[in-house]
Amino acid sequence: MFNNKKSSFDKINDYLVKKGHELVFSIYLADYNGNNIYIRFDYVPKIAVYKIVWVDLNFLNIKHLESYINVQMLTKFISTKIIEKLAEIDYESGFYLNDDIIGDRVELLTYLKENKEYVFDRFLPLEWEKFIDPLALIFSYLPRGMEVFLNEIFAKFDGTEEGYNCLKPIKFNILKGDSTKIFRSLSISKGTELFEQNRVLFLEKVDNKYLAIVEDRIPYLVMIEEVDKEHTLLWCNCKARYYCKHIYAVLLAIRENRFNNFYKVKFLGKEESLLDKVTLRNFYYSFGIRNGKLYIVTPDGMILPLNPVENGKLLFEVIEDDDNCSLSKALEEFKLK
Ligand SMILES: [Zn+2]
Repeated sequence: MFNNKKSSFDKINDYLVKKGHELVFSIYLADYNGNNIYIRFDYVPKIAVYKIVWVDLNFLNIKHLESYINVQMLTKFISTKIIEKLAEIDYESGFYLNDDIIGDRVELLTYLKENKEYVFDRFLPLEWEKFIDPLALIFSYLPRGMEVFLNEIFAKFDGTEEGYNCLKPIKFNILKGDSTKIFRSLSISKGTELFEQNRVLFLEKVDNKYLAIVEDRIPYLVMIEEVDKEHTLLWCNCKARYYCKHIYAVLLAIRENRFNNFYKVKFLGKEESLLDKVTLRNFYYSFGIRNGKLYIVTPDGMILPLNPVENGKLLFEVIEDDDNCSLSKALEEFKLK
C-alpha cells in the first residue's frame, strides 16, 4: 500500500507519532479525479481524544510538513459513534484488494481489530454498506469541498453511479465487454434501432480512439477511447448522464466492422485560424455540410461549424472524400451559390 507515496506517508506518520497520534483508520483517495488526499482518524492516548487529520498530497511540501497537515479534534460523542460503526463492520467478508485499478482508487486501512486493507474503484461496493456511516461522520469534519468525493463514493447507493461513471474510463472491453452491465435496456433497444437504420454516419479509428457521428434528431459526436487493454472511456456530446443510445449504436458499428471514414479537409485560409488553435494536425475530420456550414470534428471531441467560403473562395480543400465525391461536389455547389 502507498508504494508510490511511501516516503510522504512515512513522514506524515512520523510527524503524527511524535505528536502522540495512533492511527485507527485511514482513507486514501489515490488519483481520484486527479486528487491525492490522505485522511486519518487518529487516537491521541495522552489526552484520550480522537482527531481527524487530512493532507492534500498534491500540494504537500515535505520540508514544511506541519503547515500542510490539517488536524481537527472530535467530540467524544462523534468519535464514539465512529468507533461503534467501524466495529460493526464484518471485515472478514468484506476483504477486498484490487491492484488492477488505475486511478480513482479509494484505499481504506483499519487498525481497529486487526490491520486490514481495502481498495475499491471510485464507488463503495454495495456489500460494504456499513462503511457509509463512519465515512459520512469522518467526512463531516473535512472541508465542504470534500463532500464531492463522499457523494461520488456513495453513488452506487443513490443510483447516480452511471452519471459519474460516464466521464471516466471503466473496465470494459470494446469488442467483448458485456454491454448489459453498463447500458440501460432502453439505450440498448434505441441504440440498436439507430444502428440498424444506418444512422452511424461516420466511424473511424484515430490512434486509440473511435470517433463517430450518429444522426439522431441532430448529429451527435461519440468518442470511444481504448485507455488500455481493459479500460475504456465512452463519451457522447448529448446531454445524457449515462451511457446513451448513441454510444451503444457506435459500439455495435465497431463490433460489426461498419467503419466509414470521415471526410478529410485541408484549410486553405490564413495560418492563425481557430482550427490551428484547437488541433495541430494539418488536415481536419469533417462530416460534411449542413445548413451552410462545414462541420469539423476535432479528435478531442469538439464539433466546429465553419464557413466553407470567404469572398467567393473556398477555404477548404477536400483531401479525402467518399466514392461519390459527395463533399467535393457539395463544396463546389456551395461556391456557386
Ligand atoms: Zn448520446
